[in-house]
This record gives sequence, structure tokens and C-alpha cells, in this order.
Amino acid sequence: MQGVGFRPFVFRLAESRNLSGHIRNTASGVTIEVQGEPSAVNDFLLHLGQEAPPLSRITNITTRELPVVPETEFSILHSQGGEGVHTLISPDVALCADCLREMLEPADRRYRYPFINCTNCGPRFTIVRSIPYDRAQTSMAVFPMCPECQAEYDDPHNRRFHAQPNACWRCGPRLELRDQAGTRIECADPMAGALEKLQAGQVVAIKGLGGFHLAVDALNPVAVRLLRERKRRVEKPFAIMVPNTAAAEEFCVIDDAARRVLESVQRPIVLLPRLSSSPVAEDVAPGHRELGIFLPYTPLHHLLFAQGKFSALVMTSGNRSEEPIAIANQEAVARLRGLADFFLVHNREILLRCDDSLVRASARGVRQVRRSRGYVPLPVFLKEEQPAILAVGGELKNTICLMQGKQAFLSQHLGDLENPEAYKFFLEAIQHLQNILEITPEVVAHDLHPAYFSTHWARQQTAVRLVGVQHHHAHIASCMAENHLEGKVIGLALDGTGYGTDGKIWGGEVLVADYAGFERAAHLEYVPMPGGEAAIRDPWRMAIGYLAHHFGEEVHQLPLPWLRKISRRKIDTLVRMTRQHINSPWTSSCGRLFDAVAALTGIRQTVTYEAQAAVELEAAMGDATDHRAYPFALDPSDGGWVIGTRPLWETLLRDLDKGVPQSVISLRFHQGLMDVLAETVQLVRGRTGFDRVCLSGGTFLNKFLSTKLTSRLASAGFAVYTQNEVPAGDGGLSLGQAMVAAAQVRGEALLLPDGNAHALA
Ligand code: ZN
Ligand code: ZN
Ligand code: FE
Repeated sequence: MQGVGFRPFVFRLAESRNLSGHIRNTASGVTIEVQGEPSAVNDFLLHLGQEAPPLSRITNITTRELPVVPETEFSILHSQGGEGVHTLISPDVALCADCLREMLEPADRRYRYPFINCTNCGPRFTIVRSIPYDRAQTSMAVFPMCPECQAEYDDPHNRRFHAQPNACWRCGPRLELRDQAGTRIECADPMAGALEKLQAGQVVAIKGLGGFHLAVDALNPVAVRLLRERKRRVEKPFAIMVPNTAAAEEFCVIDDAARRVLESVQRPIVLLPRLSSSPVAEDVAPGHRELGIFLPYTPLHHLLFAQGKFSALVMTSGNRSEEPIAIANQEAVARLRGLADFFLVHNREILLRCDDSLVRASARGVRQVRRSRGYVPLPVFLKEEQPAILAVGGELKNTICLMQGKQAFLSQHLGDLENPEAYKFFLEAIQHLQNILEITPEVVAHDLHPAYFSTHWARQQTAVRLVGVQHHHAHIASCMAENHLEGKVIGLALDGTGYGTDGKIWGGEVLVADYAGFERAAHLEYVPMPGGEAAIRDPWRMAIGYLAHHFGEEVHQLPLPWLRKISRRKIDTLVRMTRQHINSPWTSSCGRLFDAVAALTGIRQTVTYEAQAAVELEAAMGDATDHRAYPFALDPSDGGWVIGTRPLWETLLRDLDKGVPQSVISLRFHQGLMDVLAETVQLVRGRTGFDRVCLSGGTFLNKFLSTKLTSRLASAGFAVYTQNEVPAGDGGLSLGQAMVAAAQVRGEALLLPDGNAHALA
């Protein structure tokens, strides 16, 4: 990888063992020649693997003996350029311990310097214009180094040897405080100024690594409420930044896995169980049993906490609702007008926006929810060589994927493409990723949904081969790819919305799939979605849709308190729409099933962000214990099975009538769904003999379902594969699309009669 200090490390290692020779990057990787005492050479090899810099990654070492040549020193040779020299650009890396120590040391020349960095830390991906990764190609190009910085940069023994963003108070970027209108506020210490404003309960927009954050004191309920009102983010939770892990323990349950992820160099936002004693303002994450929490990752962040004025700051993306995060100073002032009272900005340009990553901690490391800063642009390593393919993802939580060879590069989180700013970002990302990776795709893969902006874009590309990929097939292929699976698997794809091959809206799918194709083995029953999109915004409409579908006109007689709040006429209209299929598309969506249960139970009638009802239904479970599970129907159909919900509603309505608590209803629903899914998968195994199961789709962000279903299936003898490196939601779709397109193109190539079959393979 470029810019992680591997070559200087080797230089120092060789020198310390009195070895001569050289190191250089070549097409096949890094080549090192060393010459000296055999024991020293062995020692060198031993330490090469053990002490390599934290950001480097050695996948394989091969050694060979060479004749002795006359030479006396060790040198770093220039890269042999040309075709195929392939070193990766590093993601942005959290401030290292050495730099933190220096920054807090009054005698150091970078004391309290907010842009301190070295080869082991600092910005990378977000400041790179193009390759190779050299200062001239970054947004640091406009800051000529002072003699002291230059000397560090040139000295192979220095931690800042070739640290491209190297800078100091004399030569580097500076902070500046601006008011609401973007006018510079004269002050000796902009950081101190910003801290004062935060303490006074004001909203400060802070320029970070991949974009702006909006910050307020997380313990000040008035300030948090103010930010929430201004952002019109009615209920969606805010992430909080805390100074260190010890501080995090006051807010959340932190186990070893959580600690490792919190403190990792990627510094993602980690979703963790919230302590009831957590002093955080209620408006930070209303109705949530989890908090998104992260540690400082830039020197600037550390300075925010250095004086101990805050135990937690809300740090939420600097944007309005679902727009992409703002990155440029003027753009931020314009776009965040009315949201922020002050702006803490600087003059190091962010060239590429990159949101904070959002993950869960697991025994295996992380489970990605939103894969962005810290992880991008590292590739997902694939099992087999693949052709050059661009996959453009779905619509919501879009990412794109550029694949070639054994690497699949997923972009950072680009947002919801129906938003014009997000669409612009999508176009930028396609260009930028192709530039820095030097990949020219032969094929473009896209979703089958004709109305997705990504599909529109793909269909405008005339010079390449297009492959449309079914949404849930892509989810399963994505899971297969990150787990290096080949051949056929049983795929359980559960989510909110995906365009089916029959033009209906799918989302509760059991597939038998490989990369090249799939067969729909089972699915949730089709029900009408009264009002289409309106039923997604208002889960109560979906509840009425389900009830009217199964029980007809009787909906009125149901003893549901929330029903009485809706006018009789509205209900009649919905029942009629459902029964006569007027503006009520058919759906087998699992997300809509969660919505209907949440609404019926009285947990959530209208949502303000995607999947809110499902998240709150899961949270409502609390610590309930109960052994009952709601029954589902499982009926054979067209050589497969359809999962029906009529028995579920009958039992659930009886429970509501009896006044069974929401927590127990939620638990019984979750257990019932898990049971019927496990049973379905077993039936599919019985028919096909396949015993590998891939779980994917946004519904698997549900912790109960992902963990319990995994162990249930494992104990039934299945090999169960989940998504970890790549999100299970639509953020992971592009990887699956690329893999499916590759298989289809390869399959067609094999069928060509003219003998050129292997050209694409
Ligand atoms: Zn450092
Ligand atoms: Zn300097
Ligand atoms: Fe999906």
C-alpha cells in the first residue's frame, strides 16, 4: 500500500543489521535484496514479518538466494514504473500514539498543532487527487514544507520520511473560526473559540477528514434538541464522540470486541448497547437501546477533548437529512446555513467526501453497516480473477464497486440517489475511483429496477456491455463473494424493497443461487401495499393492507386503539384499494412485514427514516423472555414454498386483545419468523441437497435475527455465511452485482462458437 511507511521500515531494519542491498516496488509486489552475515539475514527475515508498520499488510513472502555482489549500503530504489505496478492507496488513518504524545507535549514544535501526522497516521484517501500518492497529487501540494519538515520528509530514519501530508505550525494548514454567515472571526486561538461556543450550547460545524460534522455538547439537552430541530432529523439517532474508551464505558456496555473496534485505526462509529445510567441527552437517540459511539481520529478531535471540557460531543454528518456530507468551506457555509452557529474550518482541502463508517463489533472483528472512512479504498479480496467491471449499486445507501483481478473496490457510502446532491456525488465517485485505480471497465452492472437513478445512468453508457442483476440475487452474490464461495448455495435475502423478475416488489426471498443465476425457491406471500410509497412512510397503511388482505372488511371491528385515531373514511379507502388492487403494488417484502407488526402493536405508525419501525420493533423486545413463537403458514407453490402470515395475525390480534405487552409480542414475532425461515431453508435443503446458507439484505441488520438464525441453522447442520466486511444492506449490493455480471459475461464467452471463448474469462 502507498504511504504506509513500509520501505523506510525495511531500510531501517536492513541498516540496523548491517545489511546492504535495496528495496523497490515492482509489478509483482515489493522486491528486497539484502546481503550480509547469514545470521543477520535470518534475523532480518524474522523481523520483516513481525515488525512491519501497522498499516502495511504482507500477504506472502518468497525468498531466493542470490550471488554476492560488491555493495556497501542499503538503498530505496525508484519504482519500476509501467504496466501493472499496483500498490494500493491507503484509507485515512486515525492519529497515532506517537503523534498524539508530541501534540500534547508543550516543548514539541507541533504542540497543539491540529494537523500533525506521520507515515503511520493521517489523511490519505480524502486528500488524493490522483496517483501515484505523492504530495504533488494531494491537497497538501499548496503547502511547501519548511526546512525542518522537509528534513524529516527526506530522512529515512525519521517517522515522517515521505509522509505526504507532513506539516507544522510554520508551513502547514491553519484553523479558522467563522460566524454563521461565513465571516472570519479574528481570534488568537480558533480552537479555544470553538470550545467556548460548544460550552455555551451552540452548534459548531467542524471540518473533519471526510467532511463537516455538526457538533454540540451531548450532555446538554437544550443544545441537542436545538440541533435536532434545525436538522429536521426528527428521530434518527446522532452519533457521539467520546475522548477515550474509559469515557465510552460511562455510556455503553464495552466488551473486548467493542474495545478493539473502538480503538482500531479505522475509528468507525460503533453501535453498542446503551447503559441505562448513560448521562447522554435523551434526544441523542430517542427510543433506541443502542448508541453510535466513536473515538477521536484527527488531531483536531483530540484537541476538542484535551481540556476535559466535554465527556461526549454529538458529531453528526454536516448535511441536511439525506444529502451527502459537506466538504468545502464555502459549500458548508451555504449548505449548513441555519444549522450551525459557528464554523471551525481549515484550509486543507478535502478532495473526496467520506462519511464516518458505522459498524457493529463482533467476535470476528467488525460487521459493516455503512462502510466508508477508514476502510475505503481498501479492496475486498476475491477468490478468483475477475474481468474489469463497474457495478453501480441500488438506489438507497448507494455504493459503487469497481472490480478487476482479485480485487473489488467498493466506494464509500454515497447516499440516496433520489437526492440530487447524492447523485452528483455518485457521478464524482465513478470518475474518481476509475482514476485512482486505473481500471477501465468493460462491463457495467446495474439493478433491474427501471426507475433507479443508477439504472438510468447505466443505460446511458453505450460503449460498454450492460448486465442487469436482480436485487436479491446481488445480495446473495455479495455474501458469497466476501466469503469466497463458489458453486450453489441457499440464499436467504430479506430486505425492504427489490425489483423482482416478475415486476413485483420482492424482499422476503429464499433463493438457490450461484453467481451465474438463481432460482426462487420460496418467498413471503404477496400482499398489496396500499398507496405504494405511502405505505413505506406510514407503516399503519401496511398493517391495514395485511389485515384487509386476510380478513376483508372486518378491519373496522378489530379492537385496536390506534385504529380509532384514523378516520373511518381513510380506512375504507385503504381497504377498497387493497381489495381492488388500486395503486397497491404486490410485495413479498420482509421489511413491510416488520412495519405492519410494529404498527399493529402500536409501536410505530409513521416513520421519519428508513427501517425505523423495524428498528423500534426490535428494540421493543427489551429483555422479554417467552418461549412462544407466532405461527406462520408454509404452503407449497410452483415447486417451491410460500410463507403465509394469516396465522400470525390471528394469534397476534388475540394477544393484543389480552393485553400482552409489546415486548412479548415483539419477541414472539421474531421467534416465529426465525422458526419459519429455518423450516423453509430445511425444506429447500431437502429438495436440493445444498447445505450452505448465505444470509443477506438489510433485515439482517436486525441483531436478533442475524445471531439467532445463524446459530439455529448451524445447529441444524448448515454452514452459515453472513456479511461482515461488506454491509448486508444495499450498501453491499454493488459487489454482488459485479460478481453476477462477471459470471454471466464469462458464461456467454464460453458459449461463443468462434474459438475466442477465453478472451473474457
Ligand atoms: Zn503519527
Ligand atoms: Zn513545517
Ligand atoms: Fe436490498
